[in-house]
Amino acid sequence: MALLQISEPGQSTKPHERRFAAGIDLGTTNSLVATVRSGQTDTLPDEQGEHLLPSVVRYLDNEQAPVVGTQAIQSAADDPLNTISSVKRFMGRGVKDIKHLGDRLPYEFVQTDTSVPRIKTVAGDKSPIEVSAEILHVLKKRAEKTLGDELKGVVITVPAYFDDAQRQATKDAGKLAGLNVMRLLNEPTAAAVAYGLDKSAEGITAVFDLGGGTFDISILRLNKGVFEVLSTAGDTALGGDDFDHAIAQWIMSQANIGEDASHGVIRRLLHDARSAKEALADVESVELNIDLQDGSAWQGQLDREQLNKLIDPLIQKTLITSRRALRDANVSVDEVKAVVMVGGSTRTLRVREKIEEFFGQPPMVDIDPDKVVAVGAAIQADVLAGNKPDDELLLLDVIPLSLGLETMGGLVEKIIPRNTTIPVARAQDFTTFKDGQTGMTVHVLQGERELVSDCRSLGQFSLQGIPAMVAGAARIRVTFQVDADGLLSVTAEEETKRVEASIQIKPSYGLTDTEIESMLKDSIEHAKDDVELRNVREQQVEADRVMDALQIALQQDGDLLTAEEVKTIEKALLALHKVRDGEDHHKIKSAIDKLNEATTDFAARRMNKSIKQALAGHQVDEFD
Ligand code: ADP
Ligand code: MG
Repeated sequence: MALLQISEPGQSTKPHERRFAAGIDLGTTNSLVATVRSGQTDTLPDEQGEHLLPSVVRYLDNEQAPVVGTQAIQSAADDPLNTISSVKRFMGRGVKDIKHLGDRLPYEFVQTDTSVPRIKTVAGDKSPIEVSAEILHVLKKRAEKTLGDELKGVVITVPAYFDDAQRQATKDAGKLAGLNVMRLLNEPTAAAVAYGLDKSAEGITAVFDLGGGTFDISILRLNKGVFEVLSTAGDTALGGDDFDHAIAQWIMSQANIGEDASHGVIRRLLHDARSAKEALADVESVELNIDLQDGSAWQGQLDREQLNKLIDPLIQKTLITSRRALRDANVSVDEVKAVVMVGGSTRTLRVREKIEEFFGQPPMVDIDPDKVVAVGAAIQADVLAGNKPDDELLLLDVIPLSLGLETMGGLVEKIIPRNTTIPVARAQDFTTFKDGQTGMTVHVLQGERELVSDCRSLGQFSLQGIPAMVAGAARIRVTFQVDADGLLSVTAEEETKRVEASIQIKPSYGLTDTEIESMLKDSIEHAKDDVELRNVREQQVEADRVMDALQIALQQDGDLLTAEEVKTIEKALLALHKVRDGEDHHKIKSAIDKLNEATTDFAARRMNKSIKQALAGHQVDEFD
């Protein structure tokens, strides 16, 4: 596992050796690109001096490149079907996931049988990955123009709650845009890094991100230089847009504009509401001049006090969610060492006031809340590109492939799933397979597939000295631990005698990104076969267990059965034996069930016998 290394700023490599890298915040509403130049980290503006690129793509015909950004927004009203906004909401989502959004979307999805949804446009059907790639492409060109050279690599940020599919889709969008995506980074972690919190004392940080359409709160813990996401919570339908709606509603009631107002009027009202809201971050009160449909105009005033009244219920919602996130993280408000503000809507002063009241400390606002995520990503990208010396490392990484161990039948049991942040420790209990078993081999594997033969073997060790017991009675706790250096150690411990054995492994050794990719691809392609095979293997293991146990029981206690009974059992045993090597797990299962049925009485008699033996010579009250 290649670990992300962060060192103290100051010592940079010589200019001619510098490898250009950038951080990209691929946002729902706005996207940004930032780089580190001469020790300074800044977001990069376009030719008009605008840093924020609205995440909106308008497709023209196939001949012309799509329009991205402010210009695309302006055409949204005239050409809604070809103007795609908020595409981040669909990244890595299946057709089913987005169906429920269906009616509220201005554009059309193509009905396909593939799992990736596509949007119908004049330039053809586009997947969310392609749309995102257009945004990334514009930012790539902006960075290369500013730096005067090609980008060697980028770090793209994603919400902490993004699952595997959403992360993969984001990575693919980067590839499609011609970018070398060195790493995806969680947005809250990027914000914390931008403030240099990774260099500060260990402790809890809350990252409060209120954007245009979404709200996210993340609770992070910095531990030995690693940010761990303790919890995330949020509301995918709460943001600055809702402030705009509340203000627009209020204007409508003040100006006597009915609910039947035209689309155009409402659009303009929302626009004016947003401008007023943004201005109120700097001034006490703003004048409103609203053109009405009949040609007349309404003039009024919106001051901070009125604004606060309108948005307080919305802010209250974010606080309730924040409380939930703290509870999920098992952290109290006083344990929070720093509160980082992210997202344009945290410019609203009332939001800051309420946050300060809630957390009992002023939030960090020195870095522009729109830019803070991109800035953190750029700092990471610079280090990953190799522009910093290797001392004073901060390790911040996830496990690229799942780690697990071999269980009976050549199957892999995953203990730590891929993408888990390190350091991490996970334990699971295992048991013996045979009566009287005193040793056990722990075979450690890496990979996503179900069968040992399809995963990569990392090493094995054996645990000896397990006290002899009946199969399934021993408890062996196997603990997988990956430390901040990416070192895996696996320990197996027997519960009663406390015998222990362990092994240390460096899981990344020799595995390149390409190998990781092809292993992941394999696991997707073979997912169905694997499940089928797993089912067969599991039943085979169970069949062997049942047959073994029965052989022993017959040897020991065969005298408890009549000749007739023995015959019936042997018949069922033979039937199971016959189907055991077949590939039909249903058949094996049903033969096992039949054998179990045939031996129920026998098992009951054996149980009685052993209880009698156990009780012989003891007083009954010994067992109270
Ligand atoms: P996202 O994370 O969804 O891409 P941003 O973080 O860019 O969104 O935030 C966009 C939101 O920030 C919009 O609702 C916008 O009105 C709001 N915003 C921008 N500037 C200000 C300001 N000065 N005061 C209040 N809200 C602002
Ligand atoms: Mg954002």
